Amino acid sequence: MAMLEVKDLEVYYGMIQAIKGISFEVNKGEVIALIGANGAGKTTTLHTITGLLSPKKGSVMFEGKDITKIPAHKIVSMGMAHVPEGRRVFADLSVYENLKLGAYTRKDKENLNKDLESIYERFPRLAERKNQSAGTLSGGEQQMLAMGRALMSKPSIILMDEPSMGLSPILVNEIFDIIESISKSGTTVLLVEQNAKKALSIADRAYVLETGKIVTSGKASELLENDSIKKAYLGE
Ligand code: ATP
Repeated sequence: MAMLEVKDLEVYYGMIQAIKGISFEVNKGEVIALIGANGAGKTTTLHTITGLLSPKKGSVMFEGKDITKIPAHKIVSMGMAHVPEGRRVFADLSVYENLKLGAYTRKDKENLNKDLESIYERFPRLAERKNQSAGTLSGGEQQMLAMGRALMSKPSIILMDEPSMGLSPILVNEIFDIIESISKSGTTVLLVEQNAKKALSIADRAYVLETGKIVTSGKASELLENDSIKKAYLGE
């Protein structure tokens, strides 16, 4: 059984159909990339999985349970964390306070300090800036904070929306290294990216979305060699 199974999903904004019947799955331990151009429907797909949008048709199964109609906060407590596009950190709160908020759905509060320490180990820059207000962090640091906050909920799967957006090439590499290390430490990853090259370089498999439909899918290593993918998404 797949950890996450999206089946025949159709999502509308009013009369406009943004997602036109997509199906895909994510197995435990995988890094899956969802790639596609602006407006292809990547964010809409993530928001439907995490319960922020409801589909008109189709279903989302997570660890064997139908979560299609379950509200977003409950889905978080089931072990699915979302790192939203544009980070969305709480600008007026400190790094520490933002991280603590990430754990609000958890019942095992006694391990919080230990987990905070492990987040600070993974992101030394956040440790150095514990008491700084999040709004004054750089874009890369805010991305790290958004990831750290998501990890504080101890997710079994983490969904990331455009983590490389607006970052310099060096920081993009750093963020992708962190995603790989999150995966190696046992968290399953669903990654939405416009930076197809980087996403495919760390993913196991990928799905290519075009105007609300999956047009191609396969092993990331094979998609990197695929001529039409190269032309359309890898700038080659
Ligand atoms: P991007 O990389 O630019 O975020 P995306 O692949 O994530 O693109 P979506 O944001 O999911 O794409 O958008 C899919 C389609 O749905 C687009 O045509 C977009 O204009 C439309 N759309 C998104 N949000 C809304 C909204 N709130 N109301 C109406 N249409 C919307």
